Amino acid sequence: MRLTKHLQPTAFVLLLLAAGCARTPAPAPVPAPLPAPAPAPIPPLPAMGGDASFQAFIRDFEVTAIAAGITPQTYNRAVAGIAPVATIQQSIDNQPEFSRPVWSYLDSAVSARRIADAKFMLTRYADLLPAIETRSGVAKEILVAIWGMETDYGASTGGYNLFATLATQAWTGSRQEFARRELLAALKLLQDNNYPVSQMTASWAGAFGQTQFMPTSFFKYATDGDGDGKIDIWTSPADALASSASLLVREGWQTGKPWGYEAKIPALFDAAEADLDAEKPLSAWAAMGIQTASGAALPAGEDSASLYLPAGARGPAFLLFANFRAIMKYNNAASYALAVGLLADRMAGGADLVAGWPRDERTLSRAEREQFQNSLKALGYDPGEADGVLGRKTRAALKAYQKSKGIAADGFPTASLLVTLAGDAGSAASR
Ligand code: CA
Repeated sequence: MRLTKHLQPTAFVLLLLAAGCARTPAPAPVPAPLPAPAPAPIPPLPAMGGDASFQAFIRDFEVTAIAAGITPQTYNRAVAGIAPVATIQQSIDNQPEFSRPVWSYLDSAVSARRIADAKFMLTRYADLLPAIETRSGVAKEILVAIWGMETDYGASTGGYNLFATLATQAWTGSRQEFARRELLAALKLLQDNNYPVSQMTASWAGAFGQTQFMPTSFFKYATDGDGDGKIDIWTSPADALASSASLLVREGWQTGKPWGYEAKIPALFDAAEADLDAEKPLSAWAAMGIQTASGAALPAGEDSASLYLPAGARGPAFLLFANFRAIMKYNNAASYALAVGLLADRMAGGADLVAGWPRDERTLSRAEREQFQNSLKALGYDPGEADGVLGRKTRAALKAYQKSKGIAADGFPTASLLVTLAGDAGSAASR
């Protein structure tokens, strides 16, 4: 799915050590028999230029793999017949949580069908889910939401050969170092667990199983949820869900606390205060006039929260807590974590958002998003690399520009703002 997910700088050696120390939790009750989702058929890999160079990489990488403790037998099993995946760059460019407007992303992520399916899963796993919740402290609705977001509850675990997609990214492109580490971990996964290679399907990014772990994250977090002595997140929902809970707990999940909730900002509010990275005690937000979405006073308490305006000052506002940050460790995109939180709320019977989205704003193309960054740079701001991904640095630069123009500094890029910005950048260049 995404290259951003589960990025772990941990050296391979460290993850091997960590894997060796993993403790076995008490087994959860095994749910009523469920037909395991049929593994998605692996589509034929399209032909790609540079095949000889890819095969040379596969031969060379064997030396690295063997040095890391992989046997030639494991290596040959993994790489037998693999070819490069031609569509990788396209997939990197089109990650929906970065390339679509947040409301459109949420429309499909938190659709009526997905909410209904989530409620069905809560019933179907009425023994397993509370058991994992009790053991881990992570709300079962959050686990089901992650399961739904990642693979539609195990229905689509990715159509790529895990080794082919990681080897392609290890062989070429911008994430070679990352992919090489993941490829080594994937080989270790095969060697330790002896899964059928045909079962080892993954997303284009190399995330696998019902809750989509990258191989290094598997070694760091995965756990045996059904107590059968093996961890198989492809076929065991208990293993997949317990592993997600383990990741969230390790990344700071706070039992019984909310991920966040919709809030209401006062009419005259400096939108620049809304920043995912700027946490304040709830009392400070209350003093600035922030209320709950329905206009009630914020609950008392000194929990630290950040204020987030995913679609700028004209869209809904959210107060976000530590649990939101833990979900972002699953996938480092705020829109993803927001979708998980909102889906969890909706399956628990929560209402839809109070505020509407600015749906009249049109989608910016990748070229326009890059133009945003280049124009900001031309005006002396630092939007980070001009990669078309409007992340934290770009938002901060845009806020500073909006402030200089005396307009609501919400850091939200719109088509009209792009025109103004390009005009200013043009005049600055001609001076
Ligand atoms: Ca198991």
